[in-house]
Amino acid sequence: MNVATQAIRLTVLGRVQGVGFRPTVYRLAHEMDLAGTVCNTSKGVIIELEGPPETLRKFQDDFEGAMPSLALITALEVEEAKVQGLRDFVILPSESGGSSRALIPFDVATCSDCLEEFANPKDRRYHYPFINCTLCGPRYTIIESVPYDRPQTSMKVFPMCSRCQSEYEDPTDRRYHAQPNACPDCGPKLWLVDAEGEPIDGEPIEQARDLLRQGKVLALRGLGGFHLAVNAENEDAVLLLRQRKRRGPKPFAVMTADRDGLAHFARISNAEWDLLESVRRPIVLVDKRQPFELAEALAPGNPRVGVILPYTPIHLSLIEGFRALVMTSGNLAEEPIAKDNDEALKRLAGLADAFLLHDRDILMSCDDSVAFVDPGGAPAFVRRSRGWAPDPLSLPGAPDGILAVGAEMKNTFCLTRDGQAFLSQHVGDLENLETFEHFERCLEHMRKLLGVEIRAVACDLHPDYMATRFAESLKGLQPIRIQHHHAHMVSAMVENGLEGDAIGLCLDGTGFGSDGSIWGGEILCGSAQAFRRVARLQPFRLPGGDAAVRQPWRSLLGVWLSELDEEAALQRLSSLGELDPKKVRAVAQACLHGVNAPWTSSLGRLFDAVSAQLSICTQVLYDGQAAVELEAAATGQNAADLPSLTLDRHADLWQLSPHALLEALLEKKQAGVAIGPLAAGFHRSVVQGFVEACCVFRQEGGPAQVVFSGGCFMNRLLDAQLAEALQSEGFVVYRQRAVPANDGGLCLGQAAIAAAQISTRGQKG
Ligand code: ZN
Ligand code: ZN
Ligand code: FE
Repeated sequence: MNVATQAIRLTVLGRVQGVGFRPTVYRLAHEMDLAGTVCNTSKGVIIELEGPPETLRKFQDDFEGAMPSLALITALEVEEAKVQGLRDFVILPSESGGSSRALIPFDVATCSDCLEEFANPKDRRYHYPFINCTLCGPRYTIIESVPYDRPQTSMKVFPMCSRCQSEYEDPTDRRYHAQPNACPDCGPKLWLVDAEGEPIDGEPIEQARDLLRQGKVLALRGLGGFHLAVNAENEDAVLLLRQRKRRGPKPFAVMTADRDGLAHFARISNAEWDLLESVRRPIVLVDKRQPFELAEALAPGNPRVGVILPYTPIHLSLIEGFRALVMTSGNLAEEPIAKDNDEALKRLAGLADAFLLHDRDILMSCDDSVAFVDPGGAPAFVRRSRGWAPDPLSLPGAPDGILAVGAEMKNTFCLTRDGQAFLSQHVGDLENLETFEHFERCLEHMRKLLGVEIRAVACDLHPDYMATRFAESLKGLQPIRIQHHHAHMVSAMVENGLEGDAIGLCLDGTGFGSDGSIWGGEILCGSAQAFRRVARLQPFRLPGGDAAVRQPWRSLLGVWLSELDEEAALQRLSSLGELDPKKVRAVAQACLHGVNAPWTSSLGRLFDAVSAQLSICTQVLYDGQAAVELEAAATGQNAADLPSLTLDRHADLWQLSPHALLEALLEKKQAGVAIGPLAAGFHRSVVQGFVEACCVFRQEGGPAQVVFSGGCFMNRLLDAQLAEALQSEGFVVYRQRAVPANDGGLCLGQAAIAAAQISTRGQKG
C-alpha cells in the first residue's frame, strides 16, 4: 500500500533541555508511529518527523500538551522538510560548541517518584542522598557550560555504573538523560567532619542528627551552597548560632518536614502551602502560631517566621526526628554563601561544630528564594533566587547584550538575549569585597552560559555604588545611568507588560535622586522612555546620613527639625527615654549646620521615624527592622483617628507633609492611646495622602494605571491598603509579583530603560 508521506521540521526554543523534553518527544513519536529525529542544537531543539500528513498534524496538536511539567516552550517554528525515507525515531547526540539558545533549567526539589524510591528499603537508591531524575535535582548550580549535558556539569567526574548508564540511555526510563543521575555505587558521597576537618566515624547523617540533638551547629553542603543548621526547638542552640553568625535579632528561617510539623508553630493558608510545596521551594514568610512551639530566639519581635520544606534528599534524611531545623545561609554576616568544601571549612571555622560535606561540586552558588503570599493570595518575592534563577522575563524588543548591574543592596543583575532579561540569583550587598567578587563571578558565569557579549551597560545614578563603579570600569562602554526610582517604576511596568505612561508609586528606603538628594517617597509618571516627578514626601534632613538607617531616632529628629526650632524638636524626642539627651542635642546641632545631614524624601525613613516616635524601635539591628515592627504593631488593629499626610503644592511638585500627622501621633500617645491603633492609624494616613496625590494628578491629566515599587511594598499592610484605596478611586493597580518590589528587582527596570534609550538613539542615528 502506498501511504503518502510528508516531512516537517520543528525548531523549539525555551526550557527544553534537562527537563525530560526529548524523551517525551520520543514517546509521542513512537506512540504515533512517526519516524524521525530529535536533537539539542545551538539553535534550540530540532525535531524532524516523517509520516502521514494527518498523523503529523496530530503530533503538532498534542505536542505542547504532552510536555513534561518543567518544560517551557517560548518559540516554536514549523517548516516543511524533505522526505528522507526514515524508518525509526531516534534521539541524536547533542551538538556541542557554539552558544545554545535553550533556557538553562532551574534547580528542582526532589520529585514524588524519587521520594518513593528514597523511602523504599528494597530500592537500590534507598536513602541515597543524591537521588534525582529527569524531573528533579540540581541544574543551574552544577552547570559549567551549555548545552546542558553531563560532561558540562560537575557530574562529569562520576562515570556511571552500568545500571545507571542503561537508565540514562533508555528513552523509556524516567532517568533518560538525567544529567545528575547517580547511585550509591557510582555517584557522589556524603561524609561528616568535625570543626578541624577530621572525619567523624559512623553513618554521616545519623551522626549529624546526633550533633543537632546535642545543640551543636552543623554546616551542611546542600544544593546552592552551605547552610548552617541547629535544632529549632533548642533556644540555646539558636542563640549560639545567632551569636556566632554575628547576626543580631534578624529572623532565621526554619525547615520543617511537612504540614503537620508546620501546624505546631505557624498558621498558613492553602496558597501559602502551595507555594511552600512548589518544585521551586522558596522560603515562605508565614504567620507564627501562638503559643510558638519553637525557640523564641528564631524571630524575636516578629509575628512572622520564614519556613521552607526539604528540597534535597540530604534535607529529608537530616530532618527526621526534628520538628524543625534552623536553616540559614552558610556565611558570616553579609558575606556570600560558601559553596566549596575547603572554602567552607575555612570561612565557617568558628561558626560550625561539624561539617556535612559531599563531592558533587556546586559550580554556581544560589541562595534560597524568599517569598510571601499577599492578602489577595498571590505570591510575591522578597528575594528571587534558587528555583527561579536563571529564568528570564520577557523584554520585547530589547537588543542582545544589555547588562543591567542593579543596585548596591540586595543586588541582582540581568543580561538580555532574544528579547528576554535573564535575572541573576540573589548576589547580596555589594558593600563588602567578598560579595563584589561574587558579583563578578556570577556575571561571568551567566554571560558564558547565555553566550552573549556585553554591548551596553546600565547602572544606577548613585556615583558610589560598587555596581556603578563596575559599570564605569567596562572598557569601551558608556554607562547608561538610570535614576533609582525610574528603574523601580519601569521594573513593575515591564513585568506587567504595560504600554504608555503609568503613575509610579515608588515608596522606598533610599535611592539617589536626579537632583542629588535622596529620594524614596515619590510619585513619578512616565514609561521606559522618560519620567517626571509628580509628587514627593516633604524632604527632611537625615542626621548622620547612613547612621540614620541604623538609628531611627535620627530620622525622627530630622523630620521634626525640618518643621520646628531646635528646642521644640528636641522636646518631641524627650519622651524616648533610652536616648542620651547630650548626644541628641549634638546631632541636632550638626544637622542644623548641614553637617553630614543629606536631604531626603524617603518614606522608608519616615516609617523609621514613626517607629521611633511610638517607642517601637529606636535602634535597628537588621535591615528594615523598624518598619517590620511598625507593621507588626499595626496588624489587626483598629486605626486611631489621625490626620492624613497633608498635600500641598510646592513649586512644580505636589508635596506630602507628615507634620500634622506626627503631632497628632505624639499627642495621642501621650494621652495614653495604645501603640497598635496609632501604628495602624499611621499606615492609613500615609495611604490617604498618597491616594489623594494620585487623584489630584489624575485631574491634571495623569494616567489611571498605577504601578507599585520600592522596598516599602515589603509591608503587606501598606501594599494591601494602598491597592484597595486606589482601586476604589477607579485606578488600575499593578504590583511586582514576578520580581521583588525591593532593590532585588531593580535591574529589570534598568535593562528596559537602557533598551528604550538604545532604540531611540538608533532611530535618531
Ligand atoms: Zn525525581
Ligand atoms: Zn550507578
Ligand atoms: Fe530602592
